[in-house]
Amino acid sequence: MSASSPRLEREFETLTVMVELHCLSAHGTAAPPCPDCRSLLDYARARLDRCPFGADKPTCAKCPIHCYRPAERELVRRIMRFSGPRMLWRHPLLALLHVLDGLREPPKKRPKPG
Ligand SMILES: [Zn+2]
Repeated sequence: MSASSPRLEREFETLTVMVELHCLSAHGTAAPPCPDCRSLLDYARARLDRCPFGADKPTCAKCPIHCYRPAERELVRRIMRFSGPRMLWRHPLLALLHVLDGLREPPKKRPKPG
């Protein structure tokens, strides 16, 4: 099953913007993402495409599954903490929609792990 609902596409777009904002400032990349951030985005894309919730996916902060590996999860959390406030100025609409998504409750029925 592919995760090509508009909401998931937007979530990935939001993450991409956040990673690029962080990369620009933290890695001094002229044209982000740098190779490291590129591979993080590839990883995130792969996780999103395999998300068992599909279009009902809650934001990752609220997700009961947390499918990221610990290293990637910590990295993304740091990036979001850094880029979240900056999003408001550069991409107010995306930031607003992300906050609204964060208010959605996760689906009650959770898929069985494995
Ligand atoms: Zn980078």
